[in-house]
Amino acid sequence: MDALIVSKFGGSSVASADRIRGVVSIVGDALQREPGRHIVVVSALGGVTDQLIAAIDAALAPQPDARKHRAMLVALQQRHEDTLRALVGQEAFTVVMARLEPVWNTLRELLDGIALLHECSPRTRDAVIGSGERLSAPIIAAAFRSAGHPAEDWDATQFIRTNAAHGEATVDFDETRSRVAATLGQADPNTIAVVTGFIAATPGGALATLGRSGSDYTATILGGVMGAARVDIWTDVDGVLSTDPRIEPKAFSLPQLSYREAGEMAYFGAKVLHPRTMRPLIEAGIPLRIKNTMRPQHEGTLISHQTDTTPGQVRAVSTIRDVSVIMLEGSGMVGVPGIAARVFSALAQVDINVLMISQASSEQSICTVVHK
Ligand code: ADP
Ligand code: ASP
Ligand code: MG
Repeated sequence: MDALIVSKFGGSSVASADRIRGVVSIVGDALQREPGRHIVVVSALGGVTDQLIAAIDAALAPQPDARKHRAMLVALQQRHEDTLRALVGQEAFTVVMARLEPVWNTLRELLDGIALLHECSPRTRDAVIGSGERLSAPIIAAAFRSAGHPAEDWDATQFIRTNAAHGEATVDFDETRSRVAATLGQADPNTIAVVTGFIAATPGGALATLGRSGSDYTATILGGVMGAARVDIWTDVDGVLSTDPRIEPKAFSLPQLSYREAGEMAYFGAKVLHPRTMRPLIEAGIPLRIKNTMRPQHEGTLISHQTDTTPGQVRAVSTIRDVSVIMLEGSGMVGVPGIAARVFSALAQVDINVLMISQASSEQSICTVVHK
């Protein structure tokens, strides 16, 4: 059987018709160089998820004005229509527009509902913000076909199964593995499968999202359950950099990282990867490459069990914003066993994730860092 490569293209890599043409050419080259099965995971067109969140906020405004969220939707619709028109001929344009129609109708109804009820449950929010990928995947698959590559789009809610923790759902890998085998796994390996990133379905069939930047995770979930030879994440920088290039322009690309190093960086705020991305690949040792769509010739970063760490040398610096320090102190804590356990179980009971912990040596205070 030919090797399977899963490639993921983020929002910035599919932000316009021009960028989508770049994606088609990168995958076209990969097909030549590495014949075999190619699965392409895509994000919403750049900025769309944020715009859908803004539309929810407009609908939730104290005196919601239906014209506002509707106008936002019309602008989004126009952008998708223009992008599609620039990529495909008239016949394909008509077919894909008809495919997208029900997504727009549902979105409009959901936003009108939010405005009427002045309420947006986590489940409804997921249904709205996960629509961006349902719009981008059919457009990108059509772009592949119009460039002469057989391609078909897939909605990941068909096979990625999660719990009902909307906003950042947890994947049920056993259920996902058997669903993938029965659907995507049966598809023609010579047809490029263009899969929606970010979205999945709960046991009840509702749309759930994997957390912001979750398309990275979609790619490695599929790579893991399908036994890919490699997963490639294509973004807008030369791989994982030593620090956030928006803060420090001198940040440089790290050629090699271990899963653990990459996981630490993602967990501690490096936006380039969703924190859970590495997990599905570790056991089977599937390599992960981070590459720049705008500079495909740059080698980027290879993430695997290997690393080129020099002992005593700092590899990278990352930041997490919007955090708070909670300090618990009092002389009554000195020498009393079980205080720390009580603090952490109190936080766990209300689902608060602790980012960092410290305790003063006198035992008079415990500090925890949590999301604001
Ligand atoms: P995509 O749309 O491809 O998913 P993201 O915007 O989610 O891309 O992630 C890529 C961005 O992450 C880069 O443009 C960069 O500004 C930011 N970033 C922050 N920290 C790092 C880092 N350590 N290495 C690389 N990129 C980083
Ligand atoms: N579109 C989603 C987001 O903006 C998922 C992703 O891009 O990875 O968070
Ligand atoms: Mg991202």
